[in-house]
Amino acid sequence: MERDIKKVLLSQEQIQNRIAELGRELMADYADKNPVFVGVLKGVVVFYADMIRAFNAPCQLDFMWISSYKGTQSTGNMLVRQDVSADLKGRHVVILEDILDSGRSLQFTYQHLLDKGAASVRICTLLDKPEGRKHGITIQVDYTGFTIPNEFVVGYGLDYNEKYRNLPYVGILKPEVYEK
Ligand code: 5GP
Ligand code: MG
Repeated sequence: MERDIKKVLLSQEQIQNRIAELGRELMADYADKNPVFVGVLKGVVVFYADMIRAFNAPCQLDFMWISSYKGTQSTGNMLVRQDVSADLKGRHVVILEDILDSGRSLQFTYQHLLDKGAASVRICTLLDKPEGRKHGITIQVDYTGFTIPNEFVVGYGLDYNEKYRNLPYVGILKPEVYEK
């Protein structure tokens, strides 16, 4: 896998240091709130496992799996393939995401969880590519790990055709890998 990587964008150490900082921010805001951490599968799993261990207070874990509906090409409609299992009424929810690009999936997930009666919903994303944001997307992120350029990255949970998720760092793929 390593030889398909053009450049390591974020090393394991950089990621771990930043997660420790995010953990302190989340502790300041949620230590006494028993938050529900909702992970958006599958890309988030590695970040999720590290992030929850940087939060040293009671919390509840839950997951959602969504995918974009490809029947119509225009809208980017989202489909819930697996919903959260917890009752979110009155709960404080923190969505954990691997990467925010166009913003469509997070905008959808955010509204979906609010509609379940959550007392509050905030967003924590490891990576943000602000240049990818689509018009009409108004989603605001509350906690961001790293702002990155508009390049396709893999590793630390992120895939290309389901590969590279288990790389321990975030890297940029060599163009010839796409062109194959
Ligand atoms: P959005 O709905 O914000 O456009 O997209 C978010 C989803 O697109 C992510 O959860 C991820 O699945 C995918 N995505 C966006 N940018 C990248 C990237 O650079 N690398 C990978 N592996 N997935 C990406
Ligand atoms: Mg994702």
